[in-house]
Amino acid sequence: MAASALVVAVGPSRSATAGSNQLYVYRVSAATAAASQRLVAEGFDVLEDRSGTDLFVLGDLATSARLRAVGFRPVVSETLKPTSWAAPSTRLVPDAAAPAVAPIDETYDGGYHTVVAQYAHLTAVATAHPDLATVVDYGDSYLKTRNAATGYDLKAICITHLQAGDCALTPSAPKPRFVLMAQIHAREIVTGDVAWRFIDYLSGGYGSVAAVTALLDSTEVWVVPVVNPDGVDEVQQGGNHPYLQRKNRDGTGCANPPTGSNQLGVDLNRNTVTHWDTTGVSSGLCTQTYPGGSADSEPETKAIEGLFRELIADQRGPADGDAAPVTTRGAMITMHSYAGMDLFPWGWTNTHTGNDAKLRAIAAHMSQLNGYQYGQPGEILYNASGTSDDWSYGELGIASFTIELASCGSFTPAHSCTTTDYNNNLPVLMYVAGLAKAPYA
Ligand SMILES: [Zn+2]
Repeated sequence: MAASALVVAVGPSRSATAGSNQLYVYRVSAATAAASQRLVAEGFDVLEDRSGTDLFVLGDLATSARLRAVGFRPVVSETLKPTSWAAPSTRLVPDAAAPAVAPIDETYDGGYHTVVAQYAHLTAVATAHPDLATVVDYGDSYLKTRNAATGYDLKAICITHLQAGDCALTPSAPKPRFVLMAQIHAREIVTGDVAWRFIDYLSGGYGSVAAVTALLDSTEVWVVPVVNPDGVDEVQQGGNHPYLQRKNRDGTGCANPPTGSNQLGVDLNRNTVTHWDTTGVSSGLCTQTYPGGSADSEPETKAIEGLFRELIADQRGPADGDAAPVTTRGAMITMHSYAGMDLFPWGWTNTHTGNDAKLRAIAAHMSQLNGYQYGQPGEILYNASGTSDDWSYGELGIASFTIELASCGSFTPAHSCTTTDYNNNLPVLMYVAGLAKAPYA
């Protein structure tokens, strides 16, 4: 990679944020089943621990006030030690004049990059590599559509050795397209930082890493590091105990802060039109798999689908069993965590697609590279409808995959787990990106 583009820098001091992020374990009396259920129903983060009649709730100072407000008498059982910031991390150095200098350093939970940092990173990469990278604003998050002051733009980066017509928002552009999506589920935080590292690998490796040079000479690599920025913004509010927000922020009347079992929003990976609201969904507005009031109801869903349609032609017939032709161009991966799986369509049913032999063979090779299980979701995980990869295969015919990163077996693993996941999956990302020109040939 270009020596001038990377340095080793030290992360920000803990002291700047420790006060507001201090977490406690509160011991509360919950002698009856009704009291226990009320704790959960009120949206508290009830730990999997009990001592006699007492339960334990994780939270900050505000949590203590909320517990008292609903009749509990919290006693501090433990004051959590702040998580140490990650050791020095390698980061891009933006142009000295760029306003991205400060926010590119912004992290939470020991090193995970915030939305602002992710976007500053995209700007910094495009600034440092104008021959390779272009940032595209492809829409607005739900909150931004409601109030321009509160939400986020939706951003992608196109990385290729730029020639005439490259990165244009038309499916007739010269090069085939590979699209990598991360953090459609906000709390699956390793996926965003794996995307970050992949961007650096490509932008830093052109001209020095033969495989990168060959890929970027022939293919456009599009990376959306944060598909669901409103959700990630919520996650990062938890600081060293990230909130488990999975969905976007479209909704009201659910737990605040969000818990694993109660949160507002629509599951963006259940919201696409592809057999919407049929399998793997829940009708409860505050449940984790609420698919929305109608197919494609969410701004984030419409925007990412719009981006795909601007990049890749529809190459498959409309029937579920239609096969995309051998001339099909285009591939995508959407990253989730933490099952350690390589999944391919269909997810809504166990019926095979018309391209099953090729998709299954590609997934088998992905499995050889990252060591994960592979199969259709219903074969090895569970069925789900309205997902991103069912949509991109179903609507466009492109080779589409979900990678469930292993993430050290946790939604919120230590930041060092991103290194493990990145190292295990970089060969997979390069492999599938390299298939974009003819995945079914
Ligand atoms: Zn997920």
